[in-house]
Amino acid sequence: MTESELREQLLATARAMNSQGLNQGTSGNVSVRDGEGFLITPSALAYDQCRAEDVVRLDWAGEAQGNRKPSSEWRMHCDIYHHYPQADAVLHAHSLYCTTLACLERSIPSFHYMVAMAGGDSIRCAPYATFGTQALSDTVIEALRDRSAALLGHHGMICFAGGLDRVLALAVEVEALARMYLQALSVAEPPVLPGAEMVEVLRRFRDYKS
Ligand code: 13P
Ligand code: ZN
Repeated sequence: MTESELREQLLATARAMNSQGLNQGTSGNVSVRDGEGFLITPSALAYDQCRAEDVVRLDWAGEAQGNRKPSSEWRMHCDIYHHYPQADAVLHAHSLYCTTLACLERSIPSFHYMVAMAGGDSIRCAPYATFGTQALSDTVIEALRDRSAALLGHHGMICFAGGLDRVLALAVEVEALARMYLQALSVAEPPVLPGAEMVEVLRRFRDYKS
């Protein structure tokens, strides 16, 4: 894929994030690993108004190339690529159900087997830190240990995957889990699946590919 095709795919993913109800307005941001750095959505610009040339290229030292400011969360994206080499795309959204749980500072436990999609037996909620700071990035890196998704306290959610299609699909699943968990909580705290069962689900997920 050429760089301009990748820029278009990045913007298509950011637009799909909003049109599929996973995010709203200029909240959220999406990036994709490319060569000696990554491409990221610009800060505070509506995805519908973004053109390929508005996408910002950053190198691993955080040096930006482009006519726009990179997303204010570029550090968090950069640190995820650094700490998690399996990450080729990162998506951060203020999706309503994940964010509602994050405002309650609640992690998602193994109430449903699909929690294993994010790599373990829970999806952790990182403690609150101010948007765009190194402190936020540090809490997120910790919450993502052995996981590919996390909630951001009083803020939103983040996930990473091996590509843009996969990161959007993962965000859809995590948001659905947050919605189901909140619905269950409105009746009672749902029981959780035992750790041994989640280990079995994780083992089966390794072979669950098309
Ligand atoms: P940007 O517009 O700078 O990407 O910020 C949106 C956001 O979600 C900050 O956390
Ligand atoms: Zn945000």
